[in-house]
Amino acid sequence: MFCWQCEQTRNGTGCEAGGVCGKKPEVADLQDLLRLILTGLSKAALAARAKGHVDNEIDRFTIGAVFSTITNVDFDPPRFQELINKAAAYRDQLKQKADMPECDCEEMNLKPAETLDSLIKQAADHSAYWHKDLPEAATLGLRETAVYGLKGLCAYADHASVLGQEDENLFKFVYECLAATRDKSLTLDDWLAMALKVGEMNVLAMKLLDDGNTGAYGHPVPTKVPLGPKTGKAIVVSGHDLKDLKMLLEQTKGKGINIYTHGEMLPTHGYPELKKYPHFHGHFGTAWQHQTAELPEFPGPVLFTTNCIQRPGPATGDRTFTTGLVGWPGMPQIKADSKGHKDFTPIIEKALSMPGYDMDEDKGEVMVGFGHNAVLSVADKVVELVKSGKIKRFILVGGCDGAKPGRNYYTELVDKAPQDTIILTLACGKFRFFDHKLGEFEGLPRLLDIGQCNDAYSAVIIAQALAKAFDCEINDLPLSLVLSWYEQKACAVLLSLLYLGIKNMRLGPTLPAFIHPDVLNVLHEKLNLTPIGTPEDDLKAMFAQS
Ligand code: SF4
Repeated sequence: MFCWQCEQTRNGTGCEAGGVCGKKPEVADLQDLLRLILTGLSKAALAARAKGHVDNEIDRFTIGAVFSTITNVDFDPPRFQELINKAAAYRDQLKQKADMPECDCEEMNLKPAETLDSLIKQAADHSAYWHKDLPEAATLGLRETAVYGLKGLCAYADHASVLGQEDENLFKFVYECLAATRDKSLTLDDWLAMALKVGEMNVLAMKLLDDGNTGAYGHPVPTKVPLGPKTGKAIVVSGHDLKDLKMLLEQTKGKGINIYTHGEMLPTHGYPELKKYPHFHGHFGTAWQHQTAELPEFPGPVLFTTNCIQRPGPATGDRTFTTGLVGWPGMPQIKADSKGHKDFTPIIEKALSMPGYDMDEDKGEVMVGFGHNAVLSVADKVVELVKSGKIKRFILVGGCDGAKPGRNYYTELVDKAPQDTIILTLACGKFRFFDHKLGEFEGLPRLLDIGQCNDAYSAVIIAQALAKAFDCEINDLPLSLVLSWYEQKACAVLLSLLYLGIKNMRLGPTLPAFIHPDVLNVLHEKLNLTPIGTPEDDLKAMFAQS
């Protein structure tokens, strides 16, 4: 195996004998085989589209299959076997529809081996094929940047699709990008253009998701979320999927079970159609990488929707359930029926059989619910405070949290930011400071939680609206972006910000192993994309821009 797609990759260069994330070599190889067949499926889908044949079931399958290869989503070999078999069957079906001429390319002809053992051997023969097929390191790195951004885009597109939000342009682009990965004639410039196109199309995917979430559950409103438990049975929900959470809330009504969020689910407390349930109580734990230590303390079952899952410890192994694309070997999976409905009875029964909490406990609370609607509802006040010089700067500290050292930078930066600074945050990087008491400034909370990593679109809308109000470009706003990355959704968001021409971003805690230093130099020269430094130096540099 070889994998370098996330920030925690071994030695900052690549995982070779097993992933730091827990990914076994056979899973990495199966993911590579899936990628190879998906490139063939993509060529066939484009040829079929050219003849007017569009199959949205296959489109949805493709974005879901790509999403499955994101870090900490699916570790289960049999599920990759199912995806590989389905991808090959769909590819062959589309080839026929398109009446494609025979070609000797592997991605169009490869037949998956029949048993899981033989498939794993077959996958080993194609292990990291993509890492060996381009001799030029900078071009390879840019192609992989586009591919990893595409994985993030597919995650957003899949979430949006679950909520009925789809776009033909997005489906077609996913096929174009995947098919292009088999074209060895593409140059560095071609892949730079493709990476920026991924960024552009990811803005569309994020918009669809924002429309889906706010259309189904309302615009988030400022909401206090308790961090302490309430007496009663308990279920904790992790991941990002609001539809799963809504179904669970509906099915647990009146059963004496309180529902808690974990990780990236925290901001869901701000959605009117979710917060209306009286048993949607509070939040448990901190960021994803602490789940193995924290979840054993929770006296009820755990439901993982989407990423980020880690190997469950013995204390939680028999009470952890997955749903959607997330998977762990042997862990029970709640599947949707043909209408998308999920029956959470096994989790509910597990919760009822467990002790739950026997007393209320006050551990404080945090505020969520500052999506674009809530922030822009006070835009006039914000503009006035900036114009009068009272608010000096907004700092968006957004992105993923992670286990590697060096992420204390983000905590210190937020704590050391001057009082007349407003901190905007999104995604799980916020767990470095989410419960710090930053107080208020001129009646505005100094810490505004925009939402999940899935809500990055909200930050773009806020920045665009403020730029309009100030009659300037986003780059001329008193706004600094400090990003923390971990997995491929962060790559997609970074590419979107680069596509939008956002300058002066800081990125950490380390730079992606797959981006060649020459490419990073170009990004630094053109857009002043800079690695994070020390909190003190970076704050000084930000305020020197004011
Ligand atoms: S996803 Fe990250 S940690 Fe896991 S194998 Fe790949 S690079 Fe390593």
